[in-house]
Amino acid sequence: MIPVSLRHEDSEVLEANCTITKDYQIISGDESFYRMIGENTMFLMNKLIYPDDLNIFEECIFSDKNNFVLLRIHTAKEVFRWVLMKRRFEADEPGRIELQIKDVITQNDKFELYYNNVRKYRVFMNQMKQRFFEYDFKTKIITIYFYVNGHSEILEKDMLSEWQKRVIRMGFVEGENIERFNRMCDDIENGIDSFSSTFQSSFMSRGTRTDLLNFRGETMREGSINMLVVGLIDEIGGRIDAQPVLYDNDVNKDSATGLLNKKAVTEAVIDALAEADTLNDRRTLYLAVMDIDDFKNVNDTYGHYFGDEVIAGFAAELRKNIGDKGIIGRIGGDEFICLFTDCHSEDDVRIYLKAIRKGLSFSLAEKQPGYEFGASIGVAKYPQDGTVYEELFRIADGCLYIAKEKGKNRYIIYDEKLHGKAIAEGIKNGHIIGGDFMKPYEKGNMTADMIARIVKDGRNAIDSVFTELMDKMHIQGICVYAGDDMACVKKYGKYGNHPQYAALMGNDKYLSLFNENGINVINNITSLAMDFYDIYKMLIEEKICSSLQIGVKDADGVYKWLICFDTFGDHKRKWSHDDIMSIYILIKTIAKLDEINDEKNL
Ligand code: GH3
Ligand code: MG
Repeated sequence: MIPVSLRHEDSEVLEANCTITKDYQIISGDESFYRMIGENTMFLMNKLIYPDDLNIFEECIFSDKNNFVLLRIHTAKEVFRWVLMKRRFEADEPGRIELQIKDVITQNDKFELYYNNVRKYRVFMNQMKQRFFEYDFKTKIITIYFYVNGHSEILEKDMLSEWQKRVIRMGFVEGENIERFNRMCDDIENGIDSFSSTFQSSFMSRGTRTDLLNFRGETMREGSINMLVVGLIDEIGGRIDAQPVLYDNDVNKDSATGLLNKKAVTEAVIDALAEADTLNDRRTLYLAVMDIDDFKNVNDTYGHYFGDEVIAGFAAELRKNIGDKGIIGRIGGDEFICLFTDCHSEDDVRIYLKAIRKGLSFSLAEKQPGYEFGASIGVAKYPQDGTVYEELFRIADGCLYIAKEKGKNRYIIYDEKLHGKAIAEGIKNGHIIGGDFMKPYEKGNMTADMIARIVKDGRNAIDSVFTELMDKMHIQGICVYAGDDMACVKKYGKYGNHPQYAALMGNDKYLSLFNENGINVINNITSLAMDFYDIYKMLIEEKICSSLQIGVKDADGVYKWLICFDTFGDHKRKWSHDDIMSIYILIKTIAKLDEINDEKNL
């Protein structure tokens, strides 16, 4: 029995053609055929067919079907090989049968080669910032798309003529740009060899921002027939890129994820916003605040190691998908932020967020089949929703909380009509957003009134002032530490023990959390879990969930007081700029008065 080979051998024939008679005599063949069959052509054709496949062969040559059939044929290498055979009716002469034979394995190899090439080009395209377009002459459809996460995302797909009319009707090109745009559409439709066309248009952002666009394309032909126009769309100028150098510096890095740490990412975002302001760029930037859902449960159910993997996986997915199209950082245990600097529309942002979530769910499901990854995300837009970081963060963070309230695992892009009121007023059941229950001026008036009482009554006024502050600003506890040993000298509210912040005041690492004005803002005490696990545990035991800490230094620059404003239980507090300023002014006033009194005593 002659062996049936399925293995690839070098320099195989891809396609061969031959002519036989109805009684199977081989009359002629092309060069490939002789290379494939060799000396065996002295046989009748049916003798070359593997016996089990004879009926298939006969079906191929005697039925009037015009299909390829799969059968085995005896080759020059003394083995049987799988081939695809087809009768070429269109080439038949009377009494003769024309056969076309394709070697399956060589076909397969060739397909794999093509396929690998396609994959390679996809990886290239994944890394490109440009948009791609193609126009199909058969269907007259133009498709505009980009690559993310290894697959294409379609931005437009329509008949060229319809797209052209729509872009003009919607005012996405205006003035002299209309003429240029029309000329480009003609070039595409006429299949000119190659073209490059530059014009201003807002179609990328569906009308919100005008970009200077360059379309470059070439026509691909088969013989003289136009097949496709393919090309790239470039945006010229004004692009704000994340500075890769930021990520190369260890000081800026969060060691667990390699992303920017809180300080570095905040500064980078502030810089990017300032740059956008300077350039007077009308491009929208999107600030996303993200928090993993039920992460405490993840730790409890699957263990901390897996929890760490989820964090690292989320970070890796952010990096992979967003790359240099944004600034990414970790701002807390399971909290991340990203400024998208290169998204053209909310749809773009949605696509990225979906891709990140899908990618991560997929990779984690393999490791822990029971675990379904979820994250809640809030998004604010520059310059539409705000132009400074604090403003945008507050809005994005507010949207994040609404996402949590609405049942988690979703993103909410700020829409003033839908979310403005909730964010301005705070959500009252449980979480407090921004703490903005009072309007800023009301807070100013309250602070002024409190200062007047302290000036008038001195230390005697402090109890009533702090009690009122707790009530009006939704703070559940205030602790005051003083003296060389930083002992707790006063506490207001429902503390069990009182937290031993004092020990921390000798800890340089902890002190570095305080800014140059002596303020340490802890919106969510989980931000301490990584670096200050002991204090984090102690605060959890006290049921403290957020804290505003203000340190006051003496003339020698040593902390003499520490005052902590704490919230308990579910009342997680995002300290707003106004809250911080009101409380800071109050504490500064008390400190100043204290200095003056000390001087008087001397
Ligand atoms: P929510 O859906 O409301 O966000 O609930 P949650 O359980 O995720 O709550 P939260 O975001 O407040 O909890 C974050 C938890 O993350 C608390 C802390 O135990 C844990 N954590 C913080 N940093 C790390 C870390 O580096 N590794 C691990 N494994 N856990 C961490
Ligand atoms: Mg969380």
